[in-house]
Amino acid sequence: MALILSGRKFARVVKASLRERVAALQGPPPGLTVVMVGDDPASQVYVGAKEKACKRVGFNSTVLKLPVETTEAEILDLIDQLNADDSVHGVLVQLPLPDHISDNRVASAVLPEKDVDGFHPVNVGRLWRGEDGLFPCTPSGIVSLFHHHDISLTGKNALIVGRSNIVGKPMAALLLRENCTVTVAHSRTVDLKEQCREADILIAAVGIPEMIKKDWVKPGAVVVDVGMNRKSDGKLVGDVAYDEVLDVCSAITPVPGGVGPLTIAFLLENTFKARLNLKPPAGN
Ligand code: NDP
Repeated sequence: MALILSGRKFARVVKASLRERVAALQGPPPGLTVVMVGDDPASQVYVGAKEKACKRVGFNSTVLKLPVETTEAEILDLIDQLNADDSVHGVLVQLPLPDHISDNRVASAVLPEKDVDGFHPVNVGRLWRGEDGLFPCTPSGIVSLFHHHDISLTGKNALIVGRSNIVGKPMAALLLRENCTVTVAHSRTVDLKEQCREADILIAAVGIPEMIKKDWVKPGAVVVDVGMNRKSDGKLVGDVAYDEVLDVCSAITPVPGGVGPLTIAFLLENTFKARLNLKPPAGN
């Protein structure tokens, strides 16, 4: 029987540890400001979950909701103000942004030391160079989940399906740091099924419901399902056909309750790290 890698349970451990570390801090608690533009319903849910998680671990949390017609110049101006505000340790601009605003320009405007999403080019560079920095929350959470379960990574063949800047690429960089031999597959990969069958560690970050079937998975592989797909009946499923793959893998993350909760827990970890790295305001 495969080991179920519960992100939900591990996220609880991470948050309990954060609560203790926050209580032991000298000076102000970590402060996270989330900027949201427009009223995308999914974004509202994510932002609400982030705000709740912050409060639970004792962080200061602020959500700035801006109308959809906000200009890029206005957002960049706001980010400048947040960069200069010593009580704000982490700044996160919720994606997706409206089409008239460039994700890249916004990501590059946040001070790298406050970039708790890990999207700033400086943090991306630090990640690939093997330096310390703030790195994307989802892949950071996955690597910590492996460590938590003593899953050995050195020398393993890791295949990541998906090459986004949010998941696939940073996942590749982090697994390289863990001494995996890393392959990144995408929509133009030839014979994806055979590629998957070679993988000791298989990470699916595609966005296609239950695409990865039992006969795509090497017996004994560790499978991580990042996908979050809503089916027509409203059911949330991943990119992996969970019920059938369970029979062949050695460990697997479920959906829901797998990678999702880790992403928020590691946003909190990044905010805590940003707070430690920034000098507290004078007098604290
Ligand atoms: P993107 O849409 O940015 O990237 C999807 C990737 O999948 C692309 O690289 C694309 O290739 C690749 N792809 C698409 N179709 C195929 C195919 N048929 N075969 C192989 N590769 C394919 O998505 P994200 O990385 O942002 O997210 C991926 C999934 O993870 C989504 O379901 C998302 O909701 C979920 N997610 C979950 C999170 C969590 O916390 N659990 C956090 C972030 C995302 P190409 O580049 O060639 O187009």
